[in-house]
Amino acid sequence: MFEDETVDIECPKCGHRNSMLVRGFEESAETHFVCVNCKTGVKVEANEFRHRLDQMREELEALERDAAREAKPKPKRPPKDDFQI
Ligand SMILES: [Zn+2]
Repeated sequence: MFEDETVDIECPKCGHRNSMLVRGFEESAETHFVCVNCKTGVKVEANEFRHRLDQMREELEALERDAAREAKPKPKRPPKDDFQI
């Protein structure tokens, strides 16, 4: 599932964000791509990138946790005014 995700990698020369398949980084130590904007060849070290992948995974998991929590109905709490002394 995660392998089909794409990431945006900023071109070091022009700052254009290029979409890359995450799968490419999983399979090789380094990945080359050509910036679609300025045609500069960019080398991405996978080791360096894996830290970002790990961070993305954690963020994704956190998001999924939040989504799961929000999907459940909240426990209904009686309004304060209902309490009598
Ligand atoms: Zn560029």
